[in-house]
Amino acid sequence: QDRLKRKKDMQQKLRCPIICILGHVDTGKTLILDKLRRTNVQAGEAGGITQQIGATYFPEAALKEHQEKCKGRLDIELQIPGYQIIDTPGHESFTNLRSRGSNLCDIAILVVDIMHGLEKQTLESLQLLLNKKTPFVVALNKIDRIYEWKSKEYNNVRDSLEVQEHHAIGEFKERLNKTILEFAEQGLNSALYWENPNPQEYISLIPTSAITGEGLPDLMMYISQLCQTVHREKLREKEEFECSVLEVKVIEGLGTTIDVILVNGLLSVGDTIVLSGFNGPIVTNIRALLTPQPMREMRVKGEYMHHQSIHGSMGIKISANGLENAIAGSELFRAANEEEVIHYKEQIADDLVDIMDKYVDKTSSGVCVQASTLGSLEALLEFLKQMKIPVTAINIGPVHKKDVLKAMKSIAGDIVEKEYATILAFDVKVTPEAQQFADDNGIKIFTAQIIYHLFDSFEEYVKKCRDDRKSDEGGKAVFPCLLEIVKGAIFNSKNPIIIGVTVKAGILKIGTPLCIPEKGNLRIGHVESIELNSKPVQMAMPKHGSVAVKISGESQVMIGRHFDESNQIVSILTRDSIDSLKQYFKDDLSKDDWKLVIQLKKMFGIP
Ligand code: GDP
Repeated sequence: QDRLKRKKDMQQKLRCPIICILGHVDTGKTLILDKLRRTNVQAGEAGGITQQIGATYFPEAALKEHQEKCKGRLDIELQIPGYQIIDTPGHESFTNLRSRGSNLCDIAILVVDIMHGLEKQTLESLQLLLNKKTPFVVALNKIDRIYEWKSKEYNNVRDSLEVQEHHAIGEFKERLNKTILEFAEQGLNSALYWENPNPQEYISLIPTSAITGEGLPDLMMYISQLCQTVHREKLREKEEFECSVLEVKVIEGLGTTIDVILVNGLLSVGDTIVLSGFNGPIVTNIRALLTPQPMREMRVKGEYMHHQSIHGSMGIKISANGLENAIAGSELFRAANEEEVIHYKEQIADDLVDIMDKYVDKTSSGVCVQASTLGSLEALLEFLKQMKIPVTAINIGPVHKKDVLKAMKSIAGDIVEKEYATILAFDVKVTPEAQQFADDNGIKIFTAQIIYHLFDSFEEYVKKCRDDRKSDEGGKAVFPCLLEIVKGAIFNSKNPIIIGVTVKAGILKIGTPLCIPEKGNLRIGHVESIELNSKPVQMAMPKHGSVAVKISGESQVMIGRHFDESNQIVSILTRDSIDSLKQYFKDDLSKDDWKLVIQLKKMFGIP
């Protein structure tokens, strides 16, 4: 019976949620975290906040003050034992930390600067959260910057709003509504958290200031409430082991270490762990389990505390052999025996296979994608998928010569589209040899720390490649046109012929070869220049009225002798030129233009 009761208790117990902070640069992510850490200095060591590796732990006691500030506004009974907030704000891969195929970040805080609204990286973060189905709230930060805002340290924001003057409220509402509108433009409903009719359908906005701490109690308590209600199921404490690699770091005296977040379970020195590596799964034994010194000892620089065993949830640095190729963002397993080692190795291999299956088409031409972590790789691939850019190969880690070779192979097939001879490298280094090799072989490598930047430069490049192709191969294309000579407008009767014409149908373009159908398709030369109202132009259409054209090339042909102003002039089309037209300029021609193509095709007897 005792056991049954314990089991029931266990089922009820919630674990500590893991929170990530993300958003555009300079919106205040770092400062929010700092300000939250400072809340509790007076609470002393016991109830205090502990800085861990890669995360900060806010125990329940550290939330009490926030709870106090929300009395009468947002009363809740705390059931969660505290929070783990991931320390490196803004890193997209953290929202993608994997654990059992789901993401490890339980809830995210998307920070938006109320003065600026949704910015580029905000949208990027938003996409990541939506793709990953990560629950999130929005901290509408910097409210203290509203003109004549009256601040009160760590105040509940609704209390703060109540004491503002009319005009400050006015500005607040205006900026709030602008942000709500911007979310609506993204197809998302949003509302102030206390007006939110349904947190599953509406994004909750929490006005905050990282300078004054206003709204931070609301932020903490509102998240607690969501965790204890809507997301309760996910936070039920499990006995399963759950651990993710946050970062891979070289530390003097320790070699390559990994910073992990142990969500559930126990890790001990000597344990066998299995994790993803660039060259396949890594199996190793824990040499040391380290955490930073407690706050008061923080001045002892570089010194870590050694532990024999550590329980989750906790941020830990692990020292072990063979971690050089570890992949950040991947899951870490603890294996109890050889059988489990084999099992987890297979599981890790499957992870990459799953991603390959979902995003990569090896058979067609496409770009190569490389990223620093499994999480960011997936995020990048998701973006490419949405943008309909095919991917033919993926890898994690720095770009080496072998990756360039892979990129070359992928374009060695039949359809060689230059824009696909590309490696998109996100947040990874490119070795000098790889860069040299790429340059020598016409492979472009795009690198960036922000996904959007990567896309911007790649998109620009794709457009340039396509435009180049239009002017190179598309040069073969001849636009259809039907011209009539303007009566009396013969300025030069032989090479170069200069006449006034009106475009009856089609498009007159520079370079177009012309002939006179009524004179047995007599070639008269090609268009060298066009003038409209005495200004040179690249093309002329029926709507332009009459233009002057200079036609050069066929020296024997003379107006008055071989043809006259009563004859119509058309462009000379061939099978090839029509094909180019179809391939490169399909959208540049109207229905009527295509009709003329068909008419001319018949005229020239093209099958
Ligand atoms: P991050 O890039 O998102 O981590 O932004 P930071 O936390 O580094 O903040 C960027 C700048 O905005 C810094 O100069 C902060 O002092 C300032 N800042 C952040 N939050 C607030 C806020 O709530 N109010 C005001 N007035 N300034 C803020």
